[in-house]
Amino acid sequence: MKIEEEVKKYMENKYSMIKASNYQIQAKETAIFPSDKALEYLSLGLVGEAGEVANKIKKLIRDGRVDHDWKNTIMAEDIASEVGDVLWYCAMLTDHIGIDLGKVMEKNLDKLKSRKSRGVLGGSGDNR
Ligand SMILES: [Mg+2]
Repeated sequence: MKIEEEVKKYMENKYSMIKASNYQIQAKETAIFPSDKALEYLSLGLVGEAGEVANKIKKLIRDGRVDHDWKNTIMAEDIASEVGDVLWYCAMLTDHIGIDLGKVMEKNLDKLKSRKSRGVLGGSGDNR
């Protein structure tokens, strides 16, 4: 097998090719919440799932494992699963306000690249 083919196969195994917009559309099919409370439900859910990510990492710290090789363990898979839950809420929150998740990702990258090129990645302020 040529090296280019091996690299392509490696990349396909390591990285998903799902498009954010496609994820957002499919995630919506699993959404069950009262539509008149969507904003509250989605924002609280987002924070709750972010808390679940933080709690798993807290336990790594508590158990003295954060400096050890835990990245290929069930703990890493658990953290990734919670990040997926965060993603679901991001997708549904952006859908609720009528914005495509892929566009959010593009705009975020544009913002960060601009900050990097201007040397202002560090620091604070939303509009730097
Ligand atoms: Mg969760």
